[in-house]
Amino acid sequence: MENEQTKKRMEELTWKFPHAYAKTDDDELDRISAFAGDYKTFLNQTKTEREFVQFAVSACKEAGYVPFDPESILKPGDRIFFVNKSILKPGDRIFFVNRDKALILATIGTDPVEDGIRMTVSHVDSPRLDLKPFPLFEKSDVAYLKTHYYGGIRKYQWVTVPLALHGVVARKDGSVINVCIGENPEDPVLYITDLLPHLGAEQNEKKLKDGIKGEELNAIAATTPFDANSDEKNMIKLKFLDLINRRYNLTEKDFLTAELTLVPAYQARDVGLDQALVGAYGQDDRVCAYASLRAELEKEKPVKTTVTVFADKEEIGSYGNTGMNSDFTLHFIQDLCRATGAEINRTLRNTYALSTDVGAAYDPNYPSVFDEQNSCHINKGCVLTKYTGARGKSGSNDASAETLAVVTRIFDDANVLWQTGEIGAVDAGGGGTVALFVAHADINVVDLGVPILSMHSPFELASKADLYNLYKAVKAFYQ
Ligand code: MN
Ligand code: MN
Repeated sequence: MENEQTKKRMEELTWKFPHAYAKTDDDELDRISAFAGDYKTFLNQTKTEREFVQFAVSACKEAGYVPFDPESILKPGDRIFFVNKSILKPGDRIFFVNRDKALILATIGTDPVEDGIRMTVSHVDSPRLDLKPFPLFEKSDVAYLKTHYYGGIRKYQWVTVPLALHGVVARKDGSVINVCIGENPEDPVLYITDLLPHLGAEQNEKKLKDGIKGEELNAIAATTPFDANSDEKNMIKLKFLDLINRRYNLTEKDFLTAELTLVPAYQARDVGLDQALVGAYGQDDRVCAYASLRAELEKEKPVKTTVTVFADKEEIGSYGNTGMNSDFTLHFIQDLCRATGAEINRTLRNTYALSTDVGAAYDPNYPSVFDEQNSCHINKGCVLTKYTGARGKSGSNDASAETLAVVTRIFDDANVLWQTGEIGAVDAGGGGTVALFVAHADINVVDLGVPILSMHSPFELASKADLYNLYKAVKAFYQ
C-alpha cells in the first residue's frame, strides 16, 4: 500500500489524545494564563471549606444571586397544588448556604425544570491537620499543639512544612471568631519537626508509613516562658495562651469546642520554567470548585436549570450533614422543584451531573503503579473518569456508556480537550469521589476533573491548560 494511504487509514481508525498545546493558539494561551492567575489568587484566600464558602458567597452576590429561603415559599393558607409556579422564573439566580461549610448555587433555565437539571458537584475540603479538642501541652520547655489528621495524608510529607492556623471558635454568646495565623508574610507560622539525618538511622529502618506517627504530628506553638523567673509549671504553654488571648480573646477552654486546623502556609506558585503548572496546597478539589464556580457565575440565560454544589467532608467519606452523603442537596432540589412547580422524581431522573473531582495524573517518576495508557496525563485536558473504586470497581458509580456519550458530545461541540483516566493500575490501590452519592438520588452522573501530581501532599501540582479545559467543559455543559 502507498505510504499516504496507510497514514490516512491510521488517522481514521486509531486514537491518541493530543497535547493541550497542539490545539491551543496564542489567544487561548493568554486566556489560560489569565484564568490561572485568578485561580492562584483564589487559592491563597480559600484554604478551608468555610473560607471557600465566604469567597463564593460574596462573588455570587456580586453576580446577582439572592439567598434561596425554602421557608418563605409556603405560608399558612397556601395550597401546594396552586402555589408554586411563579415563585422562581427563568433567569433567577439563587444560592443556599449549608452551615457555612457547603454551598449550592442555581440558575433557573428556560426549559421546564422537570426536563432535567445540569448539575456539578465538587468538594471544598482538603486533607490537613486538625487540632485535637484539647491540643495544648508543654514538654521540655516547648509548647505544642496536638493534631489529628483529616483525610488521607502521607504523614512524613507534613513535617518541616510551614503551617498556618485556620478555623473558627464558636463562643457561648453565639458569636463566631475567625482565626487565621500564618498567611500574612509578617505572621509567624507553626511547624512540626523531623529528625536530622545524622540521628535518623533508626527511623530510616522503619517502613515509610511508620516513619512519622500520627501522635508525633505535634506542632511547635511557643518556646519562651510567660515569666522566666516564675517557679510555676507550664510557663511556655501560658505564653502561647497569653498571646492567642491578646489576639483573639480565647482561653484554653475555647479550644475544646473550636474547629481549628493547620494547613500549609505556602502561597500558590508557578512550577517549571515554562510556567505551565500551578503548585499549591488544596488543589484537590478547589481546582474543580473554582472552574465550576466561574462557569456557574459566567453563563448567560441557560436553557437547562443549573445547580452547582460545593460540598464538605469528601476527604473523610462525605459523612456529616455538610457532605454529599447527607440529603442536603436532595432537599435543595426538592425545594427548587416546589418553587418552580416541577415534579421531583421526573426532575431527578432527567438530570445530568458532573462529579468534578481531581484525577491521579500519570507520574513518570513512579510508573509502576499506573497503566500509562489508561491514566490521565498533565497538559492533555480535563479528565473523564468512568469509574473509580478499588478491588474490581467496588464502591464506584461506573457511569453508563449513554451518559458518557451525552457529556462528551457537549464537550466535543465546544472544542473542549478531554481525556480519559482511571486512578492507577488495577489493584494498585484506588479511591472514590462523590459520584456514587449523586447517583443514589437517581441522577445520571460521571466524574470529570483535572489531573493532579502529588495529590494530597502539602503542595499539589495541576496544569493550567487542564484547569482551563475543565472550566470550558462545565461552561459548555451549562450553556
Ligand atoms: Mn477530591
Ligand atoms: Mn482527595
